[in-house]
Amino acid sequence: MTKQKWLIVGNWKMNPVSGKLAKQIFSSIKKTANKMRNVDTVVCPPFVYIENLKTSGHRFTLGSQDLFGESEGSFTGNVSYLQLKNLGVKYSIVGHSERRAQGETDEEINKKVKASLRGMLIPIICIGEKERDDAGEYLKTIKGQLLSSLSGLPKTSIKDIVIAYEPVWAIGSTATREPTSKEIFETSIFIKKVLSDIYDTKSIPPTKILYGGSVDDKNIESISKYGGVDGVLVGRASLDPKKFGEILKKVEMLKR
Ligand code: PEP
Repeated sequence: MTKQKWLIVGNWKMNPVSGKLAKQIFSSIKKTANKMRNVDTVVCPPFVYIENLKTSGHRFTLGSQDLFGESEGSFTGNVSYLQLKNLGVKYSIVGHSERRAQGETDEEINKKVKASLRGMLIPIICIGEKERDDAGEYLKTIKGQLLSSLSGLPKTSIKDIVIAYEPVWAIGSTATREPTSKEIFETSIFIKKVLSDIYDTKSIPPTKILYGGSVDDKNIESISKYGGVDGVLVGRASLDPKKFGEILKKVEMLKR
C-alpha cells in the first residue's frame, strides 16, 4: 500500500497587499515545498494573484480560497470553478468560517462542493464549532455541517474531498486558545465515524482530514504526531515563508 502523504495548505486570506509581495512569498515557499518528499503543499492566494504565481511539479500546487457554484454567466464579482481550473488551480477551500460569518449558507456550500468536483478541483471543506461545550453539543454542529456540505454526494466522490476541522475559537488573531492534540484526535475520529456512517467507508480510500487553527512552527510537531490528522490548514503562518518552511520541514522529518 502506498503511504499517504501529509497535506499542508496555506490560506493567505486577503493578504498580501501587492502582487510583488505575493510573488516573493510564493517563490520562497516554492523552494522549500519542492524539496519535500512526504508532504504535498498547497498555497491558496487571493484570486487576483493566482495567474501570476506559477507552480512546477506536483508536490506544490495552487488552491483558491473560494469558488462560485456555476461555470459561467451573469454573476457579478464571482469566480467560477472553470476559470480556476483553467488557471491550473487544483484545490478549493469551501465553507471557511470567515465566509460563513459573512452569510454563506450550508446550501451554498453544498453547491460549491459539487461545483468544485465538477471542475475536478478538490474541495477542502471547512467545518467547526464556534464554541466547545462540555456536554458535547459542538459535535452536533460538526455533524450537521458535514451532512449538509456532503448532501447528495455519491460514495465515489468521498475520496476526492478533504475535510478541514477548524474550530472557530482557535482561528486567527482572536483565537481564545489552541486545542490540545487529544481534542484534535478525538474530533478527527468523530468526523471519520460520521463519514463511515453515511458512506460505509471501509471499502473506499480514506478521506483526508486536516486540522486548522493557529498552526505554527511550534505546535506542528505535536499536532502531526498526536493529532490523528492527515494534514493542516495554516492561516497566518503561511504568509511567513520562514515559519511555513519550518512547518513543512518538521513534518517532512516526522513523516519519513
Ligand atoms: C484559517 O483561517 O483557516 C486559519 C487556520 O487561520 P490561522 O492559522 O491564522 O488561525
